[in-house]
Amino acid sequence: MSTATTEITPILQSFLSSSRKILIDGKWDDALSEQTFPTFNPATGDVLCQVPDGQKEDIDRAVKAARHAFEHGPWQTLTPSERGKLLWKLADLMEQRTEEFAQLDSLDNGKPVTLARGGDVPMAIDFIRYMAGWSTKIEGTTIPLSVPYAPGAQFHAYTLREPIGVVGQIIPWNFPLLMAAWKIGPALAVGCTVVLKPAEQTPLSALMLGELACEAGFPDGVLNIVTGFGETAGAALAAHPDVDKVAFTGSTEVGRSIVHAAAGNLKKVTLELGGKSPCVVLPDADLTSAIPGVANAIFFNQGECCSAGSRLYVEKKIFDRVVAGVADQAKQIRLGPGMETTTDMGPLVSDEQQQRVLGYVESGMNEGAQTVVGGNRYGDRGYFVEPTVLVNTTQHMKVVQEEIFGPVVCAEPFTDLEEALGKANDSMYGLAASVWTRDVSQAHRLAARLRAGLVWINCHNIMDAALPFGGYKQSGWGREMANEAIDLYTEVKAVCAQL
Ligand code: ADP
Repeated sequence: MSTATTEITPILQSFLSSSRKILIDGKWDDALSEQTFPTFNPATGDVLCQVPDGQKEDIDRAVKAARHAFEHGPWQTLTPSERGKLLWKLADLMEQRTEEFAQLDSLDNGKPVTLARGGDVPMAIDFIRYMAGWSTKIEGTTIPLSVPYAPGAQFHAYTLREPIGVVGQIIPWNFPLLMAAWKIGPALAVGCTVVLKPAEQTPLSALMLGELACEAGFPDGVLNIVTGFGETAGAALAAHPDVDKVAFTGSTEVGRSIVHAAAGNLKKVTLELGGKSPCVVLPDADLTSAIPGVANAIFFNQGECCSAGSRLYVEKKIFDRVVAGVADQAKQIRLGPGMETTTDMGPLVSDEQQQRVLGYVESGMNEGAQTVVGGNRYGDRGYFVEPTVLVNTTQHMKVVQEEIFGPVVCAEPFTDLEEALGKANDSMYGLAASVWTRDVSQAHRLAARLRAGLVWINCHNIMDAALPFGGYKQSGWGREMANEAIDLYTEVKAVCAQL
């Protein structure tokens, strides 16, 4: 098959041709320090463009703008329907920019442009539309009271769901546009105002999203976007005394520091953290779909996916067959720059991530694991790592317990269901899991006993705006998407009137 490189659109060329700015109070500005930092194309290591190195003082300005917009701006007087229309308009504008967003995330993150075009971007758009629909459906309840110490008195009591206020949102680099959409969608739908800090590795699509939000007509200060590093801009946002809630997606380690930082003013916190999700393949599974299914569970998006199926537990009679099948799938994956049309798997996001993933593989080998396929860097330019299948792993190994966030799966056999469940649940994480079987009852019994926020049956990594996503155990606090996300951006106010 011939390889063609996707041509960068004129709009995107112009976007990349100058230094970007941050969005504060509806205006595009430099960081106060006037410092910038480069963002790289991970397929080549070349600089894509410069973005402002936002610091605490820029976060302060952005929070001030968000507070003003929340308390005094026109945002508060918009009807729910008007908020919904703005979100819908934003989604329409995003749709018109589908190609630019797909290319931008491919260039900045490394992922195949085909994946971004068919997955990340349409999902982000669909999600914003889903949340636009929610804006008119945020309701309270009426409550019949008894009040035993006030016999004979009558009351009318009800609840209101009100926006939490100013929200700080910190996102990672693995799905840059989609993560931005997941964060801003519910916050804006309920009437919060936002300061968004994209990941330093992939800040560009969030900035393009900000341009479209301005074009859609969101009032000044409702959505502010500050680029910068985690330890500076991110930490300042998490600690800010005038932020009412911080929503974070990223590593469990940073999640813990967000919780500490948030303690100062006891702001609300939601966390979507790491995972080490098991795929459990039972002996009666349909292997023609289970083998490509579990391979895709780990290799999708270079394995840079918090719900990646990074632990594969297979019943021992079919273990060799499944492992050979997954290895075969791995060998067929075409690695290359994300912008090439034939690429199935792009580079990892950065030099640091490549080193981290290869370091894990090495640690596994040192502890006695064996590679069936992969295990090495690919090529001599860019941050590629071969899709890797490890066997001979045991539960105590670092490669089995820690999140690798790369295309590396550890496969282990099991003899019975109890062993499979024990191994699957033997993790500090509990984000997702999948079960592969033809036995419907068994599938649902297992789903009930897996300690994970999302259990897939005969599929993996299926996401939808209406499907709650988030983790048990150290995979996080709260849920993204669906009505769960709406709840977590609102406060409940109870009102009680004596009649
Ligand atoms: P990774 O280790 O995979 O890069 P991180 O959890 O470090 O993932 O990063 C996710 C997001 O958290 C990024 O936007 C990053 O800038 C931000 N971040 C990193 N460290 C901190 C911190 N100490 N406080 C707040 N945000 C942070």
